[in-house]
Amino acid sequence: MKKETKCLRAGYEPGNGEPRQIPIIQSTTFRYNTSDDMGALFDLEKSGYFYTRLQNPTNDMVAARIAELEGGVAGMLTSSGQAANFFAIFNICTAGDHFISTASIYGGTFNLFAVTMKKMGIECTFVDQDASEEEINSAFRENTKCLFGETISNPGVRVLDIEKFAKIAHSHGVPLIIDNTFPTPINCRPIEWGCDIVTHSTTKYLDGHGVQTGGCIVDSGNFDFSAYGDKFPGLNTPDDSYHGIIYTQKFGKMAYITKATSQLMRDLGCTQAPQNAFYLSLGVETLHLRMPRHCENALKVAEFLSSRDEIEWVNYPGLKTNKYYDLAKKYYPDGTCGVLCFGLKGGRQQSIKFMDSLKLVRIYTHVADSQSCMLHPASHTHRQLSEQQLKDAGIDPSLIRFSVGTEAIEDIIEDLTQALEAIKQ
Ligand SMILES: *Cc1c(COP(=O)(O)O)cnc(C)c1O
Repeated sequence: MKKETKCLRAGYEPGNGEPRQIPIIQSTTFRYNTSDDMGALFDLEKSGYFYTRLQNPTNDMVAARIAELEGGVAGMLTSSGQAANFFAIFNICTAGDHFISTASIYGGTFNLFAVTMKKMGIECTFVDQDASEEEINSAFRENTKCLFGETISNPGVRVLDIEKFAKIAHSHGVPLIIDNTFPTPINCRPIEWGCDIVTHSTTKYLDGHGVQTGGCIVDSGNFDFSAYGDKFPGLNTPDDSYHGIIYTQKFGKMAYITKATSQLMRDLGCTQAPQNAFYLSLGVETLHLRMPRHCENALKVAEFLSSRDEIEWVNYPGLKTNKYYDLAKKYYPDGTCGVLCFGLKGGRQQSIKFMDSLKLVRIYTHVADSQSCMLHPASHTHRQLSEQQLKDAGIDPSLIRFSVGTEAIEDIIEDLTQALEAIKQ
């Protein structure tokens, strides 16, 4: 199936007389005839459902749809994008371990890596994604367990050179994990470029309608964890909580996702509600229609803003003048995403005045939604930072993050035009 068909059909095939829609199995538990039937599930001897904290049929169908879109062997849903990124790393890192991430990533992920995981004894080194291979290589240590980045970063819209990162990770015997939230598998499938594990905040484009928070992890099955037994003991030594099974031996290419489900979900329980998984599946059905429209609108907005005297700078990888234009052409021949950022002349005050003058485009914390929305990080997500700290975080005080929606482009441009006129007075 092509990606457009997968959006509608992957992960669920109704049988004779069965519903067209993915059924919502809104049930915490599942019945078995005998005690032994259920015991076999607890031993991971048989696959099946017993408690929704670990696995639920609706969630599994939706995860399978996303996994097929990404070209992976298995997927799991989580309660949020935060949980997806945490689980993706915590599945192979424990106290005393180290990993490397690009510095230009979503603020919530940065905090998770720099503050919360540090408290758990897992240390993260942040690198500039545009640094040379030598520089990034020098951040690796004996105990480094993975390399992490975002395909297109939030909010900086920087484009990751996936092949470069895959080469670096593999030369050190660790997997590359990529958060593919912004492009979605419609515009980029990182696994095709050598990435091993893909994560998503499904709260964003995959849903697209602002109805649920959720996340997803997809494993390519390509990284051979058994080849690095010493590095990944959790996957290669007996798990006492399941009578000594060894994940790589018993589950092969499914080892990573099976461990994440049977250990992390069991113990930490960041499960997505089946009802939310159903909403997510509806979003995915139209993803292939929405993404091209987001990209088309965002490019027109970027061109419009670039042409205006009031605007100091515009950052969108689809613009020929953009630093990442060549990389974007390589990895995103059909367009990147609907998010761009820009700054007004006159800095912070003028940016705030501009946003307050908008009538159609809304001020939301959200991003990657069907409705156009804006956020001013210096006043919102990064409000607590001083001017110097903002500078250090690479956030210009004038920076506005614009998530361009699927409305008529004429209406969006008209709103921007009237707001630019309004702030002249
Ligand atoms: C929003 C976002 C997250 C976090 O996802 P939640 O669903 O809000 O927990 C992670 N990564 C990226 C790139 C995001 O945009």
